[in-house]
Amino acid sequence: MIRRDVDLQPFNTMAIRARAAHYARVGDQDELQEALEFARRQRLPILPLGGGSNIVLTGDYPGLVLHVDLQGLTVEEDSRGALVTAAAGENWHRLVMHTVSRKLGGLENLALIPGRVGAAPIQNIGAYGVELRDTFEDLTAVHIASGELHDFSRADCHFAYRDSVFKGAARDQYIITRVRMRLPSQWQPRVDYPALQEYLESHAVDVGALTPARIAEAVTAVRRSKLPDPQDIPNAGSFFKNPLVEDALYQRLKSEHPDLVAYPAGERWKLAAGWLIDRAGWRGRRIDNVGVHDRQALVLVNPGRGTGAEITGLARRIAADIHDRFGVDLEPEPRYYP
Ligand code: FAD
Ligand code: NAP
Repeated sequence: MIRRDVDLQPFNTMAIRARAAHYARVGDQDELQEALEFARRQRLPILPLGGGSNIVLTGDYPGLVLHVDLQGLTVEEDSRGALVTAAAGENWHRLVMHTVSRKLGGLENLALIPGRVGAAPIQNIGAYGVELRDTFEDLTAVHIASGELHDFSRADCHFAYRDSVFKGAARDQYIITRVRMRLPSQWQPRVDYPALQEYLESHAVDVGALTPARIAEAVTAVRRSKLPDPQDIPNAGSFFKNPLVEDALYQRLKSEHPDLVAYPAGERWKLAAGWLIDRAGWRGRRIDNVGVHDRQALVLVNPGRGTGAEITGLARRIAADIHDRFGVDLEPEPRYYP
């Protein structure tokens, strides 16, 4: 079951060439426990891997890459709505399309997000004003050190903007095996993002007659028109989180740049990182093998199949430039390994 010295390029959407000292694809609980036992015996660090769409490989991985391929999807409907239970290895977009095909709403704005179900809670995936936490019920995870199964409620997960306990206190300690979501019987469409509204208007969609499936279709079309498909141009989606800044900094930036794109976020402001990077002149720039996408400045691309060092080097240069120009710190969204 355990393979040695495995090429990881096919397993990360940035298409970075790097090797794993050990690699296992696990399709059920027994295989998962066996692989964990192997790693424990050999004292190997573990990288749980889904679709590889939110990682940057900065070099060869010295431990065990554990490809989580657990399958299974059930939907139980009752008077309160539906309880969706999905194993960690299920494809996220397929899950969304399965729910909307059953006329169930709640996940449609999250259509076409790449990756697997098991990674969705890690950064509380979000798009078009909806986050996983909005419908999240609970999850089950294996504690890597002991092999025990633990359940996490929504409160246990400490979800925040692109964040959860699995990026903080519980980082590197768990393999998520199953996620449950509760979809409401009373559904409200969420179509306030400008790009989505423009699409619905230009396609003469009657907003009063919206269905989850129609929104998923709109989200899919808008995303396809703006975002590079990793199959064509390797990338990891948005490379930086949208920074949350204090009011004083927002007011200064707004007076200097009246067209600044920003949204209120509690007491603070969420700045569109893509706008800052674009305004700084990075959109469409290419440096050797890597670059910044020409339609969406928040997406770093790897058209020349460059190294992780080239990507992280470009990210550092962009972040330093944004800091110098705007006094704003950008934080990468994908996780760097090793
Ligand atoms: P991976 O990249 O394989 O892993 C990501 C992290 O999760 C790693 O730290 C990994 O160790 C950990 N992990 C994976 N599986 C498990 C598991 N079973 N147990 C424990 N840890 C695990 N994200 C958004 O939030 N919104 C978007 O709209 C969005 N759009 C994207 C568009 C594109 C074109 C791309 C390439 C990416 C986009 N992303 C988006 C980022 C990414 O798709 C999500 O973060 C997704 O959830 C990652 O899933 P994955 O299976 O590929 O995770
Ligand atoms: P967009 O629609 O051009 O919007 C630009 C930014 O403004 C987004 O980052 C979004 O923040 C924010 N925004 C827009 N309308 C908003 C509103 N009504 N209220 C609050 N914030 C608003 O963005 P895009 O790049 O094409 O992406 C569309 C959606 O898909 C976004 O939600 C984005 O997060 C998501 N996405 C994520 C990734 C990823 O890898 N994480 C990749 C592609 C797309 P938010 O990002 O906070 O929503």
